[in-house]
This record gives sequence, structure tokens and C-alpha cells, in this order.
Amino acid sequence: MLAWYAANGRRLAFRRTADPYAVLVSELMAQQTQAERAAEAWERWIARWPTVRALAEAPTADVLRAWAGLGYNRRALALHRAAKTIVAEHGGVVPADVVALEELPGVGPYTARALAAIAFGMRVGAVDVNVRRVLGRIAAGESEAYKPAEMQTLADAVVPADAAAWTHALMDIGATLCKARTPLCGACPAARWCRYAAGERPTPGPAANAPAKRKSALAFETTTRWLRGRILARARDAASGDWVPYGEAMGSHDADAVGEAVTAMAAEGLLEYRPTADGPQARLPQES
Ligand code: SF4
Repeated sequence: MLAWYAANGRRLAFRRTADPYAVLVSELMAQQTQAERAAEAWERWIARWPTVRALAEAPTADVLRAWAGLGYNRRALALHRAAKTIVAEHGGVVPADVVALEELPGVGPYTARALAAIAFGMRVGAVDVNVRRVLGRIAAGESEAYKPAEMQTLADAVVPADAAAWTHALMDIGATLCKARTPLCGACPAARWCRYAAGERPTPGPAANAPAKRKSALAFETTTRWLRGRILARARDAASGDWVPYGEAMGSHDADAVGEAVTAMAAEGLLEYRPTADGPQARLPQES
């Protein structure tokens, strides 16, 4: 599997480094964003804020602007807070400790272990939905064969000496070969040991064979996620420090829904908010 990775792994920009801060940025960006898109944003980000201290000192508004296009903007705030925490509590050095990593904002069990393996070479298994599917199929013939704690034990037990390459290899096999619906076992380096590939798997039920439902663009525009994205985009586009009015409907969301979303986002730290006689106004946070 490592040989397959060396020959076929995705050449993502952030894989050129093991700098813990740079890996932290890449892992948070890639949590809910396609890896290739995250890699483009990561290059710009690291050029602008090359160190954890530089990011910790950046204005929040700049951080939110730089996150444009990645979605799920609370991750930008979490990354900013993580940088501040690393400076305040760890002397500006990303801690080489899974427990300490998990205590950073935005860093859960998966991200902490991915960071520990990639940046520090620690032999811990990072388990996300892709890795759970790959290891579950190899060891037991199905994705969901193990309870979370059992899967973590298995994932930790199989990490070889090159923990960083292994972590990347499992991610790439999960993303490009071991697809949820149609795994490409014929091209997979794990096929010779894989119980799923050997046919030791349960017969798929009707739901597994049903065609995937596509979410229409129309349906997406009715979601709170779409509305929050539009609200933040409008604040990003405004001149620095300018208040933006949010007293009118946006798409299919009426003015009340817009106001509720703006106040919720302000409570999360994504915006500054003020009520006015003409309706709610907001802007990107002005503090650093
Ligand atoms: S052989 Fe098939 S099922 Fe097994 S890990 Fe590879 S792609 Fe997944």
C-alpha cells in the first residue's frame, strides 16, 4: 500500500511539508472541502501567514476573507483561535501530543491523529469515514463492522513506521479507489488481503443499489447553509469596516430568516451585528 502511494498518491501541495502549523492548516481546510480545492487555498494561506504567530496576530476579518470558497466558515474562526491558543499556551509551538492537539479549537480525534502522524511521525491511526470504510472492508468485509473504539484500536495497530505516508495512503485509497458505492478493487493494492474484495461481504440491500439522489441547486438555495454563505459573502465584499444592511429577503429566505441567521452568526463570532431603524446591519469582526 505504501508502494502504491509512492507511485500513485495525490500530489497535493500541502503534502510537501511536515511543518506542524502548515499541516494543521491543511487538515482543517480539508475537513469538509475537496482536497484539491483545499490545496489551492492552503498555498495562498501559507504564503500570507507562514507561521502560527503570524496567523494568531491576523485580524479576524482578514482570516474570514481568506477562507472564501472553502465553506463552513466556523472552521476559519477555529483555526484562528487554535493559532492564538498555540501561542498563548504552547509558546507558539504546535504540541506533539494527541491529547493536547485534541484540546485545540476545531481539532477533533481525527484531525489530532492525522496531525500527529503526518507532522510528528507518531504511529496513531487517523480514522475518518473513508479510512473506516477501507479498514473495515479489508479486515471484516464491510465498512461498519467495528464499533468506534474497536476501529481506533485496529487503525492504531496497523500503522507502519512511516506513519505520514500511511496516513496519506489510506486517505487516497479511500478517496480514489475504495469508493462507497463502487470500490475499484481491481486497481487496489490492498485487494490481495481484502475480505470485501474476496467476496466475504454481506449481500447489499435494495438501498445500496438505489441510484444516488442528486440535490438540486434549487433545494440548496433553500437551506440555512446557503443563506449563511451568502450573508458572509456580502460582508466579505464590503469595504473594510463598512456596515452592511441585512433587512431584506435573500433568495427564498424572508427578512426575518435573514435577521435570525445574521444574529446567530454574530453569536458565533463570524460577524459583528447592530440593530438599526432600517433593519439589522452587520460586518466582519474588526478585532484581531
Ligand atoms: S480491495 Fe476493494 S474493498 Fe478492499 S480496500 Fe481496496 S477498493 Fe476497498
